[in-house]
Amino acid sequence: MKLVIATGNEGKVREFKRILEPMGFEVSSLKEMGLVLDVEETGETFLENARTKAEAACRLTGLAAIADDSGLCVDALDGAPGVYSARYSGEGDDGNNQKLLRELRDVPPPKRTGRYACAICCTFPDGEELTAEGTCEGIIGYELSGSRGFGYDPLFYVGERSFGQYGDEEKDAISHRGKALRLFCDKLKEYQAQNA
Ligand code: IMP
Repeated sequence: MKLVIATGNEGKVREFKRILEPMGFEVSSLKEMGLVLDVEETGETFLENARTKAEAACRLTGLAAIADDSGLCVDALDGAPGVYSARYSGEGDDGNNQKLLRELRDVPPPKRTGRYACAICCTFPDGEELTAEGTCEGIIGYELSGSRGFGYDPLFYVGERSFGQYGDEEKDAISHRGKALRLFCDKLKEYQAQNA
């Protein structure tokens, strides 16, 4: 089955592909198809935003389209940056990480808890949709560590290491997106069996 990934974020495209392709799905990003999606993420939840992106990409391509909306929710900041994670500082990933460090400057280790959250929505040309969600608990560190992953990964610690220091498979096994995508794949296989 062919799926379009409705995101322009290269980090996410890599993660979608490395999880979905081994499960037998053929996935193309909008960029690979020479398309750009221009949607405003005005939703108050990750799922609302994922649905907006998936519906727009499905309309644009006529193909089943999968989108995620994800972000980092920090307890000491009442869940911020949340759905605003990508635009937190207005200055990209480096600016976002520096802003998070500044905001948490006086927050002691036990209170630096948070989680990544991911909502996935797949919209089919007949209007059907499948959704799945996942979270991953972690601690916000005091300094950036590691060069892998993307976004807040160098500050997001699970155990002794940041996600910036995790290998791909290690991150996928416990990440919010890995969990949501595996749940989504189970639902998609069920959907395919029912519609065969
Ligand atoms: P979206 O493209 O609007 O869903 O923005 C998601 C933003 O949340 C990204 O730009 C990152 O800042 C952050 N984010 C989501 N998932 C991850 C992850 O796995 N690692 C690091 N940052 C993430």
